[in-house]
Amino acid sequence: MSSLLTREEYEAISKAMVLPTGSFIDGRARAASTGATFETINPATGAPLAQIASCSQEDVDLAVEKAREAFDDGRWTRVHPSDRKRILIKLCKLIRRNQHELAVLESIESGKPIQDIETVDIPETLHCLEWHAETADKIYDQVAPAGDDAVAMVVREPIGVVACILPWNFPLLMAAWKMGPALAAGNSVIIKPAEQTSMSTLRLAELAHEAGIPRGVLNVVTGLGETTGKALGLHADVDMVSFTGSTEVGRMFLEYSAQSNLKKIVLECGGKNPCVVMDDAENLDVVASHATQAVFWNMGENCSSNSRLIVHEKVKEALVERILHHVRDWRTGDPLDPSNRLGAIVSKEQYDTILGYIEKGKQEGANIVLGGRAISEGNGYFIEPTIFDNVRPDMTIAREEIFGPVLSIITVSSGDEAVQVANDTPYGLAASVFTSNVKRAHRMARAIRAGTVTVNCYGEGDASTPFGGYKQSGFGGRDNSIHAHDQYTELKTIWIDISDSDVEDAID
Ligand code: NAD
Repeated sequence: MSSLLTREEYEAISKAMVLPTGSFIDGRARAASTGATFETINPATGAPLAQIASCSQEDVDLAVEKAREAFDDGRWTRVHPSDRKRILIKLCKLIRRNQHELAVLESIESGKPIQDIETVDIPETLHCLEWHAETADKIYDQVAPAGDDAVAMVVREPIGVVACILPWNFPLLMAAWKMGPALAAGNSVIIKPAEQTSMSTLRLAELAHEAGIPRGVLNVVTGLGETTGKALGLHADVDMVSFTGSTEVGRMFLEYSAQSNLKKIVLECGGKNPCVVMDDAENLDVVASHATQAVFWNMGENCSSNSRLIVHEKVKEALVERILHHVRDWRTGDPLDPSNRLGAIVSKEQYDTILGYIEKGKQEGANIVLGGRAISEGNGYFIEPTIFDNVRPDMTIAREEIFGPVLSIITVSSGDEAVQVANDTPYGLAASVFTSNVKRAHRMARAIRAGTVTVNCYGEGDASTPFGGYKQSGFGGRDNSIHAHDQYTELKTIWIDISDSDVEDAID
């Protein structure tokens, strides 16, 4: 993995870069059929970056037609699995070679700190793609115990045309989570990136084409959710939608499926994740470091952000003091400066939403112990890391996903109360538990209704473990791990009658 460059070097890359702005269908960049575009901005400056193709129904129809053609003629599906693997690994090599350019592209359109993209997003994107590439020639089908008169094979086949609808908070990584297993399994893929962050996905598609993924197999349609996204959701020839985004929009995809062809739907949605710290937590300084990372990483624009700190009253004061100490290292500013750990909020809309929640927290009586204001830095959208104490579980800031750098501290006096508060949410994506008691760790990990529970650390597991949500945080499957591979395939039974009246003769 290459090391970080200087701010000046990143700025030079940014100035020299040719920005990809057309959709990518059937192996080439295209303007929208209507010529329509939408503007994408740099949230760190508020300045326009580019005009991106705004794909209409006609463009989506073309992408689906080309993806279907590619699937049906077998140019990828029937390529030997080890060759599919080889091409996906080559894509990883090209990503490595173009790492700094991809990182800058992602940073200028999303406001993410370049430090995070270079040290987390891109390495994890590579790990994910390589992990799934390796599955292509290592997964076996099954033979069922059907007796002597039949051979009953249970085989997995690619589903067909898979639409991947992405959020803006981890553009490259979310693309990898979906296209990695979908392509390894042999599907044709159409990605619709979030409108705020189209360009890094477009560049990824160009690199995939260069690596040898045949035309039509990986397409990117850029555009707005209510037009381009909806057209994919309702399309009668899309076999599956894999969606990551808000619970509200996720619900719409279930409706689109019901109204069209009952396409398979997998949803990864929002979260209001608890970080539970008990009075026997081993080292409060380490806990504070995790808790700080858990809420402020990626400016809190993170589905698994631990935005509720549920802490035992006996250690509350000491923990808050240490968190305040750790936050001092989290400098906010220009995302292209590698020493900044917090960048800009992705858009004016999201910035206003977060500031609205901060106002609501104050009005409902929570105490601000840190931050709480916008940071004026040019025309960019920056917000101070913010911590509210004395938050009650019924307050808006404790119930709704803020998707910003805002921590709500809720004090409890027992483990049972901690679990009850942790579960008092319509979401169930992730949770962390800090305790030195092994029995309590196991019991709490089981009792908290979330797809991932980490103990004595904050995280999401890795490429080898499933990630997704209980309750309204998810539906229909999981990203990551072999389970993700399974969800991009259909199960088929092939039953072969081998009974034979002459069987005795045959054996003789
Ligand atoms: P969003 O739901 O607004 O948008 C997600 C995608 O859906 C975008 O591509 C958007 O264009 C599209 N879309 C929007 N409206 C649509 C419509 N009417 N029809 C069809 N498509 C439509 O989400 P976002 O703001 O981009 O991302 C933030 C959300 O994503 C948060 O709730 C976060 O928790 C969630 N998220 C979840 C995970 C996870 O793995 N569970 C990961 C990252 C983000």
